[in-house]
Amino acid sequence: MPPLTNPLMPPAHPFDFDAVTEDGDTLHEECGIFGVVGVTDAANFVALGLHALQHRGQEAGGIVSYAPDTGFNSARRFGYVRDNFTKQSLMETLPGTIAIGHVRYSTAGSKGQTAIRDVQPFFGEFSMGGAAIAHNGNITNANALRRELIERGSIFQSSSDSECIIHLMARSLQRDIPARMEDALRRVEGAFSVVAMTRTKLIGVRDPLGVRPLVLGKVGDGWCLSSETCALDIIGAEFVREIEPGEMVVITAAKGVESIRPFRPQPPRFCIFEHVYFSRPDSIIGGRSVYETRRQIGVELAREAPMDADLVCPVPDSGTPAAIGFAHESGIPYGMGIIRNQYMGRTFIEPTEQIRNMGVRLKLNVNRALIQGKRVILVDDSVVRGTTSRKIKEMILDAGAAEVHFRIASPPTAWPCFYGVDTPQREKLLAATMSEDEMRVHLGVDSLKFISLDGLYRAVGEAQGRNASCPQYCDACFSGEYPVKPADMLEQGFKMKAAE
Ligand code: SF4
Repeated sequence: MPPLTNPLMPPAHPFDFDAVTEDGDTLHEECGIFGVVGVTDAANFVALGLHALQHRGQEAGGIVSYAPDTGFNSARRFGYVRDNFTKQSLMETLPGTIAIGHVRYSTAGSKGQTAIRDVQPFFGEFSMGGAAIAHNGNITNANALRRELIERGSIFQSSSDSECIIHLMARSLQRDIPARMEDALRRVEGAFSVVAMTRTKLIGVRDPLGVRPLVLGKVGDGWCLSSETCALDIIGAEFVREIEPGEMVVITAAKGVESIRPFRPQPPRFCIFEHVYFSRPDSIIGGRSVYETRRQIGVELAREAPMDADLVCPVPDSGTPAAIGFAHESGIPYGMGIIRNQYMGRTFIEPTEQIRNMGVRLKLNVNRALIQGKRVILVDDSVVRGTTSRKIKEMILDAGAAEVHFRIASPPTAWPCFYGVDTPQREKLLAATMSEDEMRVHLGVDSLKFISLDGLYRAVGEAQGRNASCPQYCDACFSGEYPVKPADMLEQGFKMKAAE
């Protein structure tokens, strides 16, 4: 008899060569969302949008569309958008002029063991019709909500925190879907950018602090919502504006955009790490080019932590704009001392232990001819556990560098994120247990400097730096000051900064 398999699980988990780092030594944005209304073959637009947002989640993706003659249709798949949502046979099952989609890394729930039931968009059938939702962020009171909903009879289909929204909508007594969403989201704490759809309406919402991004675009006679502006470019949409923190927009092809304010206004706290790392450099955030902000981080870093050296090298790809800024400000030549293999991708072939042990060498290689004999400044976006940084330093020294200096384009990451970014537990974060000098010794580099929090704020356009009494951004992973109480984590024993 063949072995029994769980139909909700993938047949084999793909080994992601693109994601190769040492022991999960990187931060992952967990989701990208996209929706469109008022265009023919809306699902094709969504597939292209999700493809542009693939950096926000590579584990799985899904699309829901609606057409009057077929009703709601849904497809959820593991793997990259390009490997699934380019197949004509699949896209033909997603007709209609309205559609939404989601790419995920893995949100709260079955981390690393995603079941297809955890892949969004989620769908609910209500008395007034169906609705699908896709969520980017993390609900920080999901455990309590889930317990309450299950006690009152809700039957959950997934392990995802996002499913709470559908069940809260089902329990609302409001007469239409947008009003039910308002009801549901008022019960939710944490970070959420949501795109949702009914048969005729595309809905977008950002949490009151606006932690995660969401933008509005115009495409032909239709409208679209996206996590980032780079996904508007790919479908030829025009950027209209960002959805404001705490705003809900209800969009129909006939009436356009209606704006609602369901939440009590609060000072915004957008995720500052979107500027540093998560968003694509060709996106625009808060009216600023992400590329230009990262370049400016490099400029600030060179002013704060100068070093006499022969070469400035980025750790590709995310360290590149900051390295360009550092080189420009310091006057030290810039060079591609590390080359990234662009063609790794995913495979279902299980790699041997020997290949796994190659770790970061599978993805990055040193440009020996450039490095040899030089005092090298390496610019990277962040240090998480430090294992990848150590390997890179060894590769640079093996190639004959005379000195290795690390310059990091973010402050020390000493606290986990509970708002939709996958970070290791606090004790696994290098900066949570070591001082800067201890980290330098641990990494075995000649010098190590991080940009200061004020320097980072200046680079994102806050000329006076961080306002300590009312910070302009969420920077909890650096400061330990969480703008929304992480209720579920506190219940599990997590200790906030003041309680340490
Ligand atoms: S904790 Fe860090 S990664 Fe998470 S939302 Fe805040 S700034 Fe962004």
